[in-house]
Amino acid sequence: MLKDAMAGFELYQPTDLDTAIELLSRHGQRAWALAGGYDSLDWFKDRAKSPQVVVDLEGIAELRGIRETDDGIELGSMTTLTDVATHPVVRGRYGLLADAAGRVASPQIRNAGTLGGNVCQDTRCWYYRYGVKCYRAGGNTCYAAATDAMNREHAIFGASRCVAVTPSDTAPALVALDAQMVVRNAGGERVIAAVDFFMEPSVDITRMTVLEPGDVLVAIRIPERWADADHYFEKVSDRASWDFALVSVAAAFRMNGSVVEDARVVCGAVQCVPRRLMAVERIVRGERRTSDLADVAGELAVRGAEPLSYNHFKIPLMENLVKRAVRGA
Ligand SMILES: Cc1cc2nc3c(=O)[nH]c(=O)nc-3n(C[C@H](O)[C@H](O)[C@H](O)COP(=O)(O)OP(=O)(O)OC[C@H]3O[C@@H](n4cnc5c(N)ncnc54)[C@H](O)[C@@H]3O)c2cc1C
Ligand code: SF4
Repeated sequence: MLKDAMAGFELYQPTDLDTAIELLSRHGQRAWALAGGYDSLDWFKDRAKSPQVVVDLEGIAELRGIRETDDGIELGSMTTLTDVATHPVVRGRYGLLADAAGRVASPQIRNAGTLGGNVCQDTRCWYYRYGVKCYRAGGNTCYAAATDAMNREHAIFGASRCVAVTPSDTAPALVALDAQMVVRNAGGERVIAAVDFFMEPSVDITRMTVLEPGDVLVAIRIPERWADADHYFEKVSDRASWDFALVSVAAAFRMNGSVVEDARVVCGAVQCVPRRLMAVERIVRGERRTSDLADVAGELAVRGAEPLSYNHFKIPLMENLVKRAVRGA
């Protein structure tokens, strides 16, 4: 594949949201919203995706920053991952999100990469990123599902023709915290629960989120309900620095003394969407976080897993991460 230069495009750098939305709406499928560029520019440079119009959201001040609200916090989609990871209120009251944001990639990438871009980023499947015409790219096969394929990073749950996984570290944390995604387009604003924001391949194999051309993810709201909750985030990757998760777990526990009143347990990198483990959440409610309970939770978490030829290791890995989350390490 040629990688010497990327295809030209018209670049717009609006300083207000209405203009950005008008541009994205006017150019529809031809347009691309640009945030920090860490996913976008890879696609352009590899020539695997070549939009004719790029709308850079960088100059739009209203998309940045973290605000306390009557019911929790609101984070602008263009807030950098570093700002999310280090903000005193996020660190102090919503530590699960701070921990997850702080584990994304490297400090350099977190300094420019945004929270919105992190949840909207495309999958990292090698074949698809290389530009082959697989199902997700409009073709009629999945190269990663073949028995001799490079599929150790791929899904163990929820595959439907495509076996790619969500690569985002912040997405499982946002699902665990019952976040709400605020999306705006030329027709107005809609608010979508994080758990419904990510797209199953069985519904639309060409998109990772419910966003459509013309949509801008404006902000992410986290309700007060999970503020100050006990939390656990752990990500296992091949390398400790700038590497995507092989499996991650994001869990929040609202405690009444030593008893779990309510819980959210979500895994990343095991399915195309963050995998919420509702059966685990149910069995931990009303219980103490003991080793015995953790063993049951871990076993339940991986029930029904369907590994590919090279990713069986994800099953014990996920089981152990869920056990550790329930025990609290
Ligand atoms: C070497 C490397 C290592 C990495 N490691 C990790 C890792 O360990 N964990 C992890 O989670 N990520 C990792 N990433 C991914 C990186 O963190 C994300 O790609 C980055 O956060 C994307 O954010 P961005 O701001 O750069 O967005 P961009 O790349 O500009 O955008 C990403 C996508 O989101 C869309 N988009 C962005 N913002 C909006 C918005 N507000 N509204 C609508 N659409 C929008 C864009 O159109 C594009 O499709 C890594 C990336 C690299 C290059
Ligand atoms: S896993 Fe999905 S993205 Fe990867 S080759 Fe198969 S269809 Fe394409």
